[in-house]
Amino acid sequence: MKKRVVVLGSSGSIGKNTVRVLAELSDRFETVGLAANTSVEVLAEQARKLNCKHLAAADERVLTKLKSLAPEGCRCSAGAEALVEMACRSDVDIVVCAIVGTGGLLPVMAALKANKRIALASKEVMVMAGELVNAQLDAGHGEIIPVDSEHSAIFQCMDGCAAASINKLIITASGGAFRDWKAGDLHKATWRDALKHPVWSMGAKITIDSATLMNKALEIVEAGRLFRMDADKIDVVIHPQSLVHSMVEFVDGSVIAQLSHPNMRYAIQYAMTYPQRVNGALDKLDFRTLGKLEFAAPDFDKYPSLGMAYTALRAGGTLPAVMNAANEVAVTAFCKEKITLPQIWQCVAEVMAKHDVQQLDRLETAINADREARIKAEEFIKKLI
Ligand code: MG
Repeated sequence: MKKRVVVLGSSGSIGKNTVRVLAELSDRFETVGLAANTSVEVLAEQARKLNCKHLAAADERVLTKLKSLAPEGCRCSAGAEALVEMACRSDVDIVVCAIVGTGGLLPVMAALKANKRIALASKEVMVMAGELVNAQLDAGHGEIIPVDSEHSAIFQCMDGCAAASINKLIITASGGAFRDWKAGDLHKATWRDALKHPVWSMGAKITIDSATLMNKALEIVEAGRLFRMDADKIDVVIHPQSLVHSMVEFVDGSVIAQLSHPNMRYAIQYAMTYPQRVNGALDKLDFRTLGKLEFAAPDFDKYPSLGMAYTALRAGGTLPAVMNAANEVAVTAFCKEKITLPQIWQCVAEVMAKHDVQQLDRLETAINADREARIKAEEFIKKLI
């Protein structure tokens, strides 16, 4: 029987890749729902391609337009609640969550309660509320299979191994657009420079985050929560070729690495077919022509975001949510050319330093910390400009 899938955030970079995987593996998967924020044209086109009968827009203002564009017989809904409802449909097996930003939090929590498999691409879910997500995973039968390439790699390398046999997780980082820039020149960097990512082709926010290594910072926290690993058991290594997507070092000194072409469809497909592996439409690596694989230590002084990640992971509670929220505000200001690239780090560091960490007892605590951090970040940026 086909597995039934919904894709939240289907118009973004991961979402479009997911739709491609679903089309390529249409003998195994049936798409029962697609959701986006406002991109109703994309939704309608994807619905035709995948013969999907339920579309949802997070933004209620586009509902009329969505209805006019959707294929005949297609149900259309809108609003944050519509995404939660779509994720919890009783005829859904897998929820792919690829929503940019914090909008994935509520649908993922609800879908876990409904015992779904979540193919999770949105970093913010584990960063903002990892402790609560883990409590929900322990309480029910829902599961999270990571889609972020690094976490998918670690998940594949661990392959169900006991935590006691793992010495550390080694997350690889391409180094972002400024890896060859001197730290002293970074204040001159523009968002156009930041968008020239050396290897991966992704959305704008995540490409800026890659340039500041804030993306890696979020991934450090995400890894700590997903794999329930202490901060001192997580390492980052620069790997410019982006072919080794991450590694696991075991207590006996052996290291297992996962490699593939730098293309998100490998991780997306695996999260949907796990524990099976299927021969889809993805290219194999040719080691005879691969050339070299290089590794180097990251520069914690040039990239303060890395240190912030360890601080956030160790403190836990509301601090990772604060780091993420302050960064989102700062990246927006950077893209509007209000602040410089190093001021993104300054803003995040300042908002984190001034935050009183609270334990995460419930989702609202994380959401409130997020909201508060955004206000503080806006205030900090106003003082800068
Ligand atoms: Mg990644």
